[in-house]
Amino acid sequence: MLRQLASLTLHQPWIKKAAVTLPGVRDLAWRFVAGEDLEAALGAVRTLNARGIKATLNYVGTHVRTEPEAVAAADAALESLRRIAQQRLDANVSVKLTHLGLDISEDLCRAQLRRVLDGARQGGGFVRVDMEESAYVERTLRMFEDARETHGNDTVGIVLQSYLRSRRGDLDGLVAAGARVRLVKGGYWEAAAVVYRKRADIDAAFLGDIDRLVARGRHPAIATHDTNAIHHACRVAADAGLERRALEFQMLYGVRPALQAALVRDGYPVRAYVPYGSRWYEYVLGCIRRLPGGALRQLGERLGERRRSDEGWGGGCP
Ligand SMILES: Cc1cc2nc3c(=O)[nH]c(=O)nc-3n(C[C@H](O)[C@H](O)[C@H](O)COP(=O)(O)OP(=O)(O)OC[C@H]3O[C@@H](n4cnc5c(N)ncnc54)[C@H](O)[C@@H]3O)c2cc1C
Repeated sequence: MLRQLASLTLHQPWIKKAAVTLPGVRDLAWRFVAGEDLEAALGAVRTLNARGIKATLNYVGTHVRTEPEAVAAADAALESLRRIAQQRLDANVSVKLTHLGLDISEDLCRAQLRRVLDGARQGGGFVRVDMEESAYVERTLRMFEDARETHGNDTVGIVLQSYLRSRRGDLDGLVAAGARVRLVKGGYWEAAAVVYRKRADIDAAFLGDIDRLVARGRHPAIATHDTNAIHHACRVAADAGLERRALEFQMLYGVRPALQAALVRDGYPVRAYVPYGSRWYEYVLGCIRRLPGGALRQLGERLGERRRSDEGWGGGCP
């Protein structure tokens, strides 16, 4: 029911507007979204940095249909890179290619990505290309490869999703090329022919990918709130003789803050993904829509869990 409602709202602007005026929705949203503008997001980054947590800024939006919207998304990324450099914040930026116009034309999207990466390189910044629905994976990887060639591994990185059945080879290729990879389980509700759907299968694929990325990857980044996977990554890193500061954990802003703090205390770099922007409700509703049935039922539990201080993390990494 909750997912149906969220799905409906995504395609009905008037329902969206009504939904965001509901007091409960706004209160819930501000736990997970930094605010409606860059100023608020930079404030959130400063607070995170003061706690030893790095940040990734993301101007919320996807699937734009007009060129001005794609240009505006690139402008927003450029402005956040500029302000990050100016304020010397410990932060980088994530972009989604459908926000930069991939649904309109590859040329438009490529031009916007190039603008963003030029800005990043100029200011010594870093841009991560988020991975979206499976229909975009091939084109995203192709564009990332081109971007890596023109701008280098220190300016642009990528996200790989472990739940994809047919892309098991991507990780080894990118690791061998020195690409900077953020590894995730995968965040979209897709057909069973395309992705693993069972939690056990997704987790097994994720742990296997962690083995390969942590042991051999350059600046490996594991994005998860799953303590089992985090423990596993810590063990793999220790076995490979990696220093703790070489293994980055990434989590969503507002999710499991005590776990984030505990990892920082243990000496691991932690980065929070900080969404902001006037379309914040798409992020919040999109999260609900993408949650599989079981996870949806756990949403209440999760929110409760966030308030607990131990957050399921007892440290204990080797
Ligand atoms: C920094 C970051 C960047 C990401 N980028 C992408 C991307 O580019 N492309 C993509 O497809 N996916 C992305 N994802 C989403 C990812 O693919 C997963 O869908 C998401 O992280 C949930 O999986 P999990 O690894 O946390 O494990 P799960 O097994 O889903 O969750 C483990 C536990 O963490 C807690 N938890 C998980 N999520 C939440 C939440 N939202 N709120 C509260 N508690 C929660 C719950 O207690 C849960 O039991 C990103 C995730 C993060 C953290």
